Amino acid sequence: MHLVIIGNGITGVTCALTVRRLRPEARITLVSSESTHHYSRTALMYVYMGHLRPQDIKPYEDWFWTENRLELVHATATNLDLAGRHVTLDNGNTLSYTHLLLATGSESKRFGWPGQDLAGVQGLYNLNDLAAITRDTHGISRGVVVGGGLIGVELAEMLHTRGIEPVVLVREASYWSAVLPPEEGNLVDRQFAENHVPVRYRTELREILGDAQGRVRAVVTTAGEEIACQWVGFAIGVTPNLGLAKTSDIETDRGILVDEFLRTSAPQVYAAGDCAQHRQPAAGQVSVEQLWYTGRMQGETVAHTICGQDTPYRRGIWFNSAKFFNLEYQTYGQAPAGAEAGVESFYWEHPSARVALRVYYRTEAPHAVLGFNALGLRLRHAVCEQWIAQQAPIATVMAEFGRANFDPEFFTQHEQAMMAAYNIQFPTQPVLLKRRKGLFSMNR
Ligand SMILES: Cc1cc2nc3c(=O)[nH]c(=O)nc-3n(C[C@H](O)[C@H](O)[C@H](O)COP(=O)(O)OP(=O)(O)OC[C@H]3O[C@@H](n4cnc5c(N)ncnc54)[C@H](O)[C@@H]3O)c2cc1C
Repeated sequence: MHLVIIGNGITGVTCALTVRRLRPEARITLVSSESTHHYSRTALMYVYMGHLRPQDIKPYEDWFWTENRLELVHATATNLDLAGRHVTLDNGNTLSYTHLLLATGSESKRFGWPGQDLAGVQGLYNLNDLAAITRDTHGISRGVVVGGGLIGVELAEMLHTRGIEPVVLVREASYWSAVLPPEEGNLVDRQFAENHVPVRYRTELREILGDAQGRVRAVVTTAGEEIACQWVGFAIGVTPNLGLAKTSDIETDRGILVDEFLRTSAPQVYAAGDCAQHRQPAAGQVSVEQLWYTGRMQGETVAHTICGQDTPYRRGIWFNSAKFFNLEYQTYGQAPAGAEAGVESFYWEHPSARVALRVYYRTEAPHAVLGFNALGLRLRHAVCEQWIAQQAPIATVMAEFGRANFDPEFFTQHEQAMMAAYNIQFPTQPVLLKRRKGLFSMNR
């Protein structure tokens, strides 16, 4: 067996390590155009901000790979020959495979704006982008961030920590409105305001203007405003990297099409992680998953199938977390941003606008819990998952809510107010608060 893996991100590396465990004798080669060694993509921002050094974001020491007989090739795979079962690299070599995993990740989107190729204009995805932002924001006073998703707020925070004023352009009326209900969006907006980050809502980029040296000097928005700046960051989403797949006749759509075993249309060729698109996602699940933990899960699952233990990919209950400046965010299960038939929610927010909880439940009694949004408070993953999987009624969840709280301090601070708000929304099924040993516990 010679497993060739294109891409040494979390997906490719997890697959490699799992195959090594399952098939100690297998030959495994990891190819990456980006870096010889795997690193944590999610930690790129902390290197820029000076919280971590580049070597700190490599989860494994450099000797680890030789020790585990994982061959590393730093090159770009430029052509895929399915009939001959080999991959051509840009260094002139070819690699023959018995099994091939495409784990090529994503690439930043660009929409063809005038001026988007000027110096000082970029996305944030890889190590080259980190080098570019480090170089091009040195000594500047203002950068414009285009897009209001998770990477948008990361870029704003990155510039902010270096004393550069970020101006954020958001097409929608509130922050990340495709994902967050307006109340949660407003809490993030408060973070922008407290950190003196100007945000232009309902505003898009029209054009980027350059100077005589071909460097960005300003942007023009759809509101007609010209904003002087020395750097522009795109945070308008990513798209599956299909470059290598497209050199063959492997079936693709938005991503590389895979079945539930993460098999592509070509024999012995698999795809997983950001670049894969599920042909038949389970009800309520997305077809392209661009998350760290789903990459890891897919990498592990596909390794079993590659080793002859056919294993369907089952993501389980949706989960995501992020940090918006100082505001932590977690979401579990079904948590729609807008109205959805048969779904309601209970929302509580602390007057400080720094802590909030939303619990989604079915309209129909007994109001089974469907999902959670938590801001400024940390919930226990296992407990939330269990409630959602067991379709626990909201009354039960609220009565036992302390089980999900990560932070015991939270009890004393907020739980009473939260339950009082819940009791107003559900007067027929109140949760009673009993004072016990200085802590509040809930009983129905
Ligand atoms: C700045 C940033 C912050 C993020 N933060 C979070 C977060 O907080 N939480 C979260 O869940 N997710 C986050 N994500 C998303 C998460 O990092 C990705 O979902 C995950 O890294 C995808 O892993 P992957 O292994 O599928 O692909 P990737 O990590 O993209 O790895 C693919 C690799 O393949 C290489 N490659 C591609 N084509 C070729 C080729 N032809 N030849 C050789 N090599 C090739 C690429 O260079 C790349 O190194 C973040 C992403 C970014 C960019």
